[in-house]
Amino acid sequence: MRKFEIRTRRRTDMIDITAKVREAVRAEGNASGICTVFVPHTTAGVTINENADPDVQRDILAELKKVIPFDDHYAHREGNSAAHIKTALTGSSVQVIVESGSLCLGTWQSIFLCEFDGGRTREVWVKIT
Ligand code: ZN
Repeated sequence: MRKFEIRTRRRTDMIDITAKVREAVRAEGNASGICTVFVPHTTAGVTINENADPDVQRDILAELKKVIPFDDHYAHREGNSAAHIKTALTGSSVQVIVESGSLCLGTWQSIFLCEFDGGRTREVWVKIT
């Protein structure tokens, strides 16, 4: 398994980690199989979405904020329930086919770390099986 860290700056953000995942996959040589990208956090997730227009990421974060406001009389005393709920929606892992050391993504697809309670240092784990 390969690991790398991402330093997030904003409270919520979508950070394109495709290049870092590619690097981790390349370090495994000419592997073929399934690459799992896993984020071991409860207030940050991972998703695959459009990489061409940054407004897509802005819209995703804005709509999530509308549906899941930061303050809504949540019971969780840490005060970051919105981040936990958003993470539950995005999920903690994505899988991408790897063919001879290359990530098989669509032209407009990138892998995004979804920060919902930043800024923090986040870990990403990558494993080809
Ligand atoms: Zn919490």
